[in-house]
Amino acid sequence: MTTATKAATMNLDGQLLLPGDDDYDQARAVWNAMVDRRPRLIARCASVADVVTAVRTARELDLEIGVRCGGHSGTGLAVPDGGLMIDLTPLNDVSVDPVRRRAIVRGGALLGALDRAAQAHGLATTAGNVSHTGVGGLTLGGGMGWLARQYGLACDNVESYQVVTAAGEVVRASRDEHPDLFWGLRGGGGNFGIVTEFEFRLHDTGTRTLVAEYDFPLERAAAALRAWRDLNAEAPRRATFTASVGRNGLTTLGFVWVGDPAAARAYLPALRALGRPVAARVTEPSYVALQTREDSVQGHTYRRYSKGHYLRTLPDAAIEAFLLRGTESGHGSYAPNAGLQAYGGAIDEVPDADAAFSHRGTVFEWGTGMRWTDAGEDAARMAASRAAAATLAPYASGVYVNALADEGAEGVRRAYPAAKLARLRTVKDVYDPDNVFHLNQNIRPTGR
Ligand code: FAD
Repeated sequence: MTTATKAATMNLDGQLLLPGDDDYDQARAVWNAMVDRRPRLIARCASVADVVTAVRTARELDLEIGVRCGGHSGTGLAVPDGGLMIDLTPLNDVSVDPVRRRAIVRGGALLGALDRAAQAHGLATTAGNVSHTGVGGLTLGGGMGWLARQYGLACDNVESYQVVTAAGEVVRASRDEHPDLFWGLRGGGGNFGIVTEFEFRLHDTGTRTLVAEYDFPLERAAAALRAWRDLNAEAPRRATFTASVGRNGLTTLGFVWVGDPAAARAYLPALRALGRPVAARVTEPSYVALQTREDSVQGHTYRRYSKGHYLRTLPDAAIEAFLLRGTESGHGSYAPNAGLQAYGGAIDEVPDADAAFSHRGTVFEWGTGMRWTDAGEDAARMAASRAAAATLAPYASGVYVNALADEGAEGVRRAYPAAKLARLRTVKDVYDPDNVFHLNQNIRPTGR
């Protein structure tokens, strides 16, 4: 049967898009404007039955599958060239039970929808820092956010998942049902099936936060960073320490606090240890405002490339490398902005064997960010980002799977230690032995 003939019989509750259709180009566009791939079919799924139909159709027609939630994967893994894109964006509703403190979040929802629905009741769960990121990709890779030091990663707060498997079956995964699948979904990415529903635990966080930021000039930045690192070791869980360095020559240090701002203000004097800043900003955004404050700077339509590392320690030499951003490598003119975000607290309290997510002993995550519009700059920008990452590599203990770009199998080996990877393979063997879901940071089944 040809693709066109089969497509005509697909009968979705949602919409099927083919090249040339009005919404086709908008549907295949993702966060990184460098991604320009053309699926043969886009199934905009509006029901679980649609997802089942799409998986079965793709397998019948031997079309590569890409799964789209927020479209934020750095390399555009959601968009298969010539394949079938399973677009979950119509499956985007969130319902909150404030009494049981649970949120049912469908597989195509964005973080903003979860935050807004939960905050209407003064509740929240761990979600990332940019509201147009997908709950799907973020949670399946782990999910780091401002609440993680208090409540664990996003994946640590999932009670159960509804999943469409590679065989086109609908199953539920929890500690009691398909516990091996549940384990794999907690950090193993989109390797084991398509999640159509997440059941999250919510917490009584209130709606208030405080953000403290202090700017230091380059000559005082290393000393300030060393003091910031030392303070972090004893920081309250409500504080997530942050550092950034960029093209303006300033290093910004501080923390994000979720909870009563009065308690955060009582903690502020500790930051005097950093030295004298040239500027200081202390603001009290609502939690929802905090969760959207990077939305514009992280907006769509730009070309993007980034790198990441996990660090268990931040020795003085790593601080020097952080500040230099690879500028000494010859790629200096395009050196990326770089940042550090603290882990620890509840993240590290979950036993390592509990979930596929790895490197819970991470103290800081390092990452770069840059955006540009001229395709002629692609190679130089990417080289500069790689050069910055290379200078931090000697201090790295691994990488967050959701921070991987185009590192391939080597990146996957950095994201999961060998024993985790071996166990992930056994789960893959059961739920996706043909590697139908491989447009992801791929866990290969045994023998493939
Ligand atoms: P998509 O490109 O739609 O999906 C990525 C992959 O996830 C897909 O290829 C598929 O394999 C899988 N997938 C997505 N949804 C499903 C589903 N429902 N079922 C099965 N598989 C699915 N990460 C953090 O932890 N914390 C942050 O604060 C954070 N901030 C970010 C900010 C920005 C601007 C960006 C670009 C990324 C950020 N990330 C953060 C990284 C983010 O977690 C990953 O990029 C993640 O893959 C994005 O998920 P998505 O659903 O938006 O992406």
